[in-house]
Parts: sequence; C-alpha cells; structure tokens
Amino acid sequence: MAQTAVVNVPKLNKTINVPTGLFINNEFVPSVDSQERIDAVNPATEEVICSIIAGSEKDIDVAVAAARHAFKTTWGKNITGWERSRLLNKLADLIERDAQELAELEALNNGKPIKIARDFDIGDSIQCLRYYAGWADKIAGQTLECDNTKKLAFTRHDPIGVCGQIIPWNYPINMWSWKVAPALAVGCTIVMKPSELTPLTALKLSELVVEAGFPPGVVNTVPSLGSVGGAALAAHPDVDKVAFTGSTVTGRKIMEAAAKSNLKKVSLELGGKSPHLVFESADLEQAASWAALGICYNTGQDCTAGSRVYVQDTVYDKFLAVLVDKVKALNVGDGLDDATGAGPVVSKGQYDRVWGYIESGKAEGARVLVGGEKRNSKGYYVDPTIFTNISADMKIVKEEASIFGPVLSVGKFKTEEEAVILANDTSYGLGAGLHSNDANQCMRVSSALEAGTVWVNQYNLLCNNVPFGGKKQSGIGRELGSYALEEYTSVKAIHWNFGEKLEWPL
Ligand code: NAD
Repeated sequence: MAQTAVVNVPKLNKTINVPTGLFINNEFVPSVDSQERIDAVNPATEEVICSIIAGSEKDIDVAVAAARHAFKTTWGKNITGWERSRLLNKLADLIERDAQELAELEALNNGKPIKIARDFDIGDSIQCLRYYAGWADKIAGQTLECDNTKKLAFTRHDPIGVCGQIIPWNYPINMWSWKVAPALAVGCTIVMKPSELTPLTALKLSELVVEAGFPPGVVNTVPSLGSVGGAALAAHPDVDKVAFTGSTVTGRKIMEAAAKSNLKKVSLELGGKSPHLVFESADLEQAASWAALGICYNTGQDCTAGSRVYVQDTVYDKFLAVLVDKVKALNVGDGLDDATGAGPVVSKGQYDRVWGYIESGKAEGARVLVGGEKRNSKGYYVDPTIFTNISADMKIVKEEASIFGPVLSVGKFKTEEEAVILANDTSYGLGAGLHSNDANQCMRVSSALEAGTVWVNQYNLLCNNVPFGGKKQSGIGRELGSYALEEYTSVKAIHWNFGEKLEWPL
C-alpha cells in the first residue's frame, strides 16, 4: 500500500501530500506485523481526512532498535555539539519555510485556526528549536576539588540515551518541538508517538528531519494507539527515558510501566484546574481580556486553561459584564476560515466529554451566563460557556482535571486569604493567574499560589527560555529553558587522581 496520502484541503482548493507510514531509520515503512490503521478526522466537518498505519508493539521494538543503533554510532557521543546545533537550526529553517502548509494541515486535523497554528504554534516551535540549537554546544559539567594537591573530580552531562516521547493532540507541532529540541540538543535519540487523534503533522515533520540531514534512527515516529505504542514505549526495557504530556490517568500508567520495566527516567506534564484571581485594584478591562484568553484559547483545550475565575466581590458584577462581552466577541468556526478565532474541539470523544460537563453544571444548579447550547450543524463545536452561581461541590468546579473545553466557572471572594484558599483547593498545580495593581499583593499571592507557573497581570503566555511544568498531580519535571536539559542528561562524576599513592594494606 502507498505510504503517502493526497489530502484535500477544503475551502483552500489545494492538496497536501502526507506520509502515512511509520517513520523509522529515515524511511516511511509499513508495520512489521499489523494491518491496523488510524483514521485522521477533520473535527470541523467530521469527515475522514486520510488513514495512516497504526504501529504495533513490534514496530516500537524496531524503532527503539533503530534509535539505539543511531545513539551508539552516529549520534549520542559520536557527534559534536556544533553539528547538533547546525542540524537543529536547519530543521527550524525548513519548518519556517513550510509554515503555511504545516499550519493548514494542523488546522485540518486539529481544528485550530490556520493563523494561530502558523503564527503561534509553529512560530513558537521554530524559536524552540533555535533556542535549543543554541544550547547544543554549551552542555557543560563542573570541575570540583576533592583534594587540592592530588585529586580532582569533574562531571559530564551525558545524553541519557534513547527517549520515548508521547505527545497529545492539543498542540501537535508545539509539543513535538518541546520534546524533540532539548533531546536532540544534548545528543539523545528519539522514538516519538504522536496522538492517534492528530498524527499528520508529526509525519510531515519527519520528512523535514530527513531533509535537514539528521542521520537515520535519530528521530523515529510511530503513530499508534496509546494503549499499544504508548504503553510499549513506557514499558520498553531499552528505552532510557520517557517524556509524556497528556492526562493524569495516563501519566500514572506511564510511571507504573517505567517503574516495573527498567526504572527509566520519567517526565510528566499533566492536567490542571488552573485558578485565575481578579482583585479589586486590577485593570478590569485587561483582566477580562486575559481571562477570556485563558479559557477560550485553543478552544479551552489547554492544560493551563484558566477554568476557575474568582473575582473580588466589590468588582464582581462589573468584571462579569466586561468578560461576557469579550467572550461573545470571539468568532468560533472552521479553522480553515480566515475570520475564525477558535475552532471546534478535536474529536467526538472530546465533544461528548465537554458537553457532559456542561449538562452536569446545569443539572447541579449553576447558572449559564453565556453559551451552553449545542449547535444544530456538523462539526464538534462548543461555544464558550460561562457558569456563575457555582459551589465547590459541583462537578464542573471540583472534578479533578480541567474540562478541556471552553467552559468557565466564575466565583467570588471577599478577602485575599479566601482567594488563595479557593485557588489552591485542588490536587493540581500547573498554572495560576492573578490580576492586581497592588505590587505587594502580587508578590504575596504569587508566592502563595501552588502552581508551577504563575502569571501576574497576564495569562497563558510562555517563553522558550522559561521553565514550564507542574506541582502536585500536574506533573514531574520541567520542559523549556535550561531546566529541560536536565531531563535528557545523566550526570557522570569522574574522580581523577594525579598524585596520591595508595598505601596497601590499609
Ligand atoms: P491521553 O493522556 O489519553 O493521551 C495523551 C497521549 O498519551 C496520546 O499520545 C495517547 O496515545 C497516549 N496514551 C494513551 N494511553 C496510553 C498508555 N496507556 N500508555 C502510554 N501512552 C498512552 O489523553 P486523551 O485521551 O487524548 O485526552 C484525555 C484528557 O487528557 C483530556 O480531556 C484532557 O483532560 C487531558 N489532556 C491533557 C493534555 C495536557 O496538555 N496536559 C493534553 C491532552 C489531553
């Protein structure tokens, strides 16, 4: 069967060639033992875009062997940091060249607007690759004195080895770059498992890996179901590290599989139920814009979605009125239309899940201020929905993970102390936001919020040089910045004797 599909991009009158095989050793290949396929679906039309090969457990074995071979021969410690840097920069250049087409494919398979995919997801991914290209020749250890006159020690930050990388569907290209860039910069090799819901851009990026000149086996891409390929990677005895972004339920399974197999290093970026606090001194107009962005961006399918907004009672009504106008101004539609600001949710499964939460909010007595009504048309659409009159025991508020849709619960507080208690009343700790014009309050509250990232007078923006990750059940380890390099390196201490003679026996 052909390893390429010609994908039709509706509305743009064009086609894109998409590889449909497993990418192993720089080639697109069939499965060694499976006929399974994955249908990629356009969430705006519910139509199948194309089908691709679903990798099996044995395919994971083949990909891991390819990655191991590359690690021992052409990559790992066999290549200079300068060369790794050059290749990463080249890959960034190629992604920049193909940004429009990649954005169209991302919009088609994920539903997000083309302009957001191109200018934010892909723009940020290019920067991410270039940021880590800059690190590739700067991976340094320390020199440590053990005995000034006769001995010293030094450390080397070795690449950890073969990395399994399991990524979600909400930012397919972005998550690919966040994982691939630091791993390659330090000299690791990769078996990437994209989400079965959005595999197309990871396959398209694999073509660019070859064009950039990476040796075979350095990056391998095996689309597969999570319970098959993802589970096999997490449990593989020859994988040295697994990096995962997705749900907490799956994160737990990955950690268990890693512990039971070879105690591989694990980093997990999981869900959140992120709070967003608005104090009375805040610029309410701005706070409402950031709160709208916090819940509507990427149709709420964001691990840091600000899904719980708490407002000081003195400005509650005023803030809500502004927020409602902002949310109503968002244009939700097909990601292939220029005017669209947010697309549908990614799949039928997500659609049913999000609507299940909305129905439970209504049934439990929360008041729908905006949205909350299904459309009578094709596509997995959920218009932004705001609930007020919430209480802590409602499913939309207390349920562990974020709803992962544009569904916001808004509550009130009287005092700063109460705001912090409400914000921290969750087993998650990924993101949190606060809006205030009182600098001392910003400092006090940002310090008290239990989250890996706190945004002050803004929300949801990240930088490639600033670490990102969770506290509590939102994850382990950090992505981005120099911190991510630690996730992919193993520190070796070398003790060197240049003068001590051992007197034996002791
Ligand atoms: P998921 O955790 O099931 O999937 C994420 C990735 O893990 C996918 O590549 C999937 O194939 C893989 N996977 C699934 N089961 C696996 C297993 N047993 N072993 C190894 N890998 C496995 O997430 P989902 O089903 O796509 O979405 C469910 C919920 O997860 C969402 O509604 C949302 O709450 C959350 N989620 C969070 C993020 C995030 O950025 N933190 C991203 C996507 C989804």
